[in-house]
Amino acid sequence: MTKKKTRRIYVGTVPIGGGAPVAVQSMTNTDTRDIPATVEQVNRLSAAGCEIVRLAVIDNEAALALKKIKAEVDVPLIADIHFDHRLAIEALRAGADGLRINPGNIGSPKAVETVVREAKDRGVPIRIGVNGGSLQKEILSKYGSPTPEAMVESALQHIAMLEDLGFEQMKISLKSSSVRKTIRAYEILSRKVDYPLHLGVTEAGSLISGTVKNSIGIGYLLANGIGDTFRVSLTRDPVDEIKVAYEILRALDLRHRGPEIISCPTCGRCEIDLFGLVDRVEKSLEGMIASPKVAIMGCVVNGPGEAREADIGIAGGRGQGILFKKGELVRKIPESELAHELIQELRKMTE
Ligand code: SF4
Repeated sequence: MTKKKTRRIYVGTVPIGGGAPVAVQSMTNTDTRDIPATVEQVNRLSAAGCEIVRLAVIDNEAALALKKIKAEVDVPLIADIHFDHRLAIEALRAGADGLRINPGNIGSPKAVETVVREAKDRGVPIRIGVNGGSLQKEILSKYGSPTPEAMVESALQHIAMLEDLGFEQMKISLKSSSVRKTIRAYEILSRKVDYPLHLGVTEAGSLISGTVKNSIGIGYLLANGIGDTFRVSLTRDPVDEIKVAYEILRALDLRHRGPEIISCPTCGRCEIDLFGLVDRVEKSLEGMIASPKVAIMGCVVNGPGEAREADIGIAGGRGQGILFKKGELVRKIPESELAHELIQELRKMTE
């Protein structure tokens, strides 16, 4: 794939665009004013590999909370602001590393100018977040519905608004709950501007449907070299968004974090509890940063082949499994000890 060239911006210390690794983001779903709960969630997200965290700043108390939250976490924080430009100013003064605004709903041109000047003085980037569900009335009536072209026109207007103020530290998102519209909109915009693009499919849904929509939308764009950072959107604990994000990056061979489990779907030949084994191994390896390939296969048909290709692997047999390491058969292990032995061996390999 050829990566689309974009400019480089920084959210805190995290580079976005300009050839930087695709950065993984998420958003807290705690009440930002609840400082302990938000700090706890930000830290869980960070431990899972989230590199930038966005928080909803819904009032002045939330903007003030941001300052205290920032003092207790290590990842850059983006303030998500709607409707009231004064909250954006407060968030910047509280130390926000980035702003996510929709210039069309933040207030008058004068209000936008105040926010942009304050962000510029502090060297803080702004994400223009265009959402198919909240386009300007005149654009909607021109296109009849939130088409990809309508979303792009909205983005270009907002970009021009910031450029007229001499501001270029921006990234753009064009979100729709339709995967096809999302893809099309980003494809069009990426040909028109070289600002970094923040990918996302909004309101994607629960774990299974949301994972599929995000993976197809974000994955398709990344596979075509479009996108510098992204957030997987799920109706779930946001930590699950990070797990899905890294699986998307791994599937495209863009970034690797955590072990890659290669396991078969099982069939009538399988004579061990493979589902239980995979679950146990996955759970106990949660949080691992190293990314060994781990094959867990049900039988000797494809098992030894896959297990040999992996860094470590198991091929199941009747009430037992064969352990392979770096292509070498190591030993036979009774089924009851398979999970424990595999985890021990993996920890030894990665420590
Ligand atoms: Fe079936 Fe064996 Fe293939 Fe698993 S590896 S799907 S058990 S044939």
